[in-house]
Amino acid sequence: MFMTRASLTLAAEASIDPTTQERAKQYQRRKRVVSWASSVMLAIFLLAVYVSGLSTTIAEALTSRWGFWGSSISYFALIFIVTMLLRAPFDYKEDFLIEKEYGFSTQTPQGWLKDLFKGWILNFLILGIAALFTFWALQAIPKLWWLVVGLGYVLLVIVLGQLFPVLILPIFYKLKPLENHPLQEKIEQFLKKGGLRAQGIYEMGASEKTTKENAMLAGLGQTKRVILFDTLLRNRTPDEVEVVVAHEVGHSYHRHTWTLIFSQALLFLIAIFVLDLVMVRLDPRFAPEQRTLTNILAVLPLMLVVFSVLAFLLKPITLFVSRRCERQADTFALEATEKPQALIRFWVDMARKQLSDAYPHPLIKLFYYSHPPLSERIALAERWAQSRDRARAL
Ligand SMILES: [Zn+2]
Repeated sequence: MFMTRASLTLAAEASIDPTTQERAKQYQRRKRVVSWASSVMLAIFLLAVYVSGLSTTIAEALTSRWGFWGSSISYFALIFIVTMLLRAPFDYKEDFLIEKEYGFSTQTPQGWLKDLFKGWILNFLILGIAALFTFWALQAIPKLWWLVVGLGYVLLVIVLGQLFPVLILPIFYKLKPLENHPLQEKIEQFLKKGGLRAQGIYEMGASEKTTKENAMLAGLGQTKRVILFDTLLRNRTPDEVEVVVAHEVGHSYHRHTWTLIFSQALLFLIAIFVLDLVMVRLDPRFAPEQRTLTNILAVLPLMLVVFSVLAFLLKPITLFVSRRCERQADTFALEATEKPQALIRFWVDMARKQLSDAYPHPLIKLFYYSHPPLSERIALAERWAQSRDRARAL
């Protein structure tokens, strides 16, 4: 069967209908606005704590009473709990109310709250370890602390990457190995191609929380596996499931987890190197010879704000790398399955049912899109189909 590019484009374009795309833009915009409001509010709060001298007062009170561990842990806990409480209403709006309004969330408010608390405890432990290590390095290695913290970051990300599918994800979702699926044999062939174990495919009980359909490659080394949302398995045709699995296997084949870990580590290192330069100029208490624990805790709110701004400015680079990986995985899926129509069908449906904005503004793409917009992914599949058909015709 030969389809010309024009007819395929028209078919795909016609299916991305303007009314749901308007709704998609509105949905995405509303979520971004809430997220921005939350960030701006937190930055104002942290700056107020810093400028008013409250952070200095608290830091002095704690360090005059306790040593490194007592002061560091109690100060971190205080900042953590207050910021989490302040942002909770914004999170509720973004992750629950808006998701309900657009028909995605299948959770009860209690269920959502339970997840929020679980997330708090998890973040408290992970960020707590990171914070204590940073406080220690700032004092112990005053000139090269950023390098040591950068290396610590890589180590933490690798450990968390390994634990994610076996220890972290199961806190929030039920996971079970995919068994007796009609596609089992085909899927196992892909897995081998992508350097994954034959048992490396799992079904995740996403339907308890959302109607959205998705899949991911998670874990590192021994824990590496493809995870499929039960919503995807339930609602998609076998061909569509096959191309989605092939896409995830493509990430494994190209070792994208490592690409992302190292590119993000490099950017993190750049961010904290610049943070060091900026902080010395903003507050003399941050200078290496002044850096007592009291001074570190006193300037911490300012450090957090400056770091967030730097991280936001560097985000387009991370996203650019991620979009490149996604294109490679798409190409892998096309070559492994030779089913461009199934991929296109899936994406057209994502634009309609999951309210993905297929044609975002270039700035929105730059700062928010970890995947290419669906219009570009469809165009890639069309180009691939066209060149395959041309090769066959020869
Ligand atoms: Zn992907």
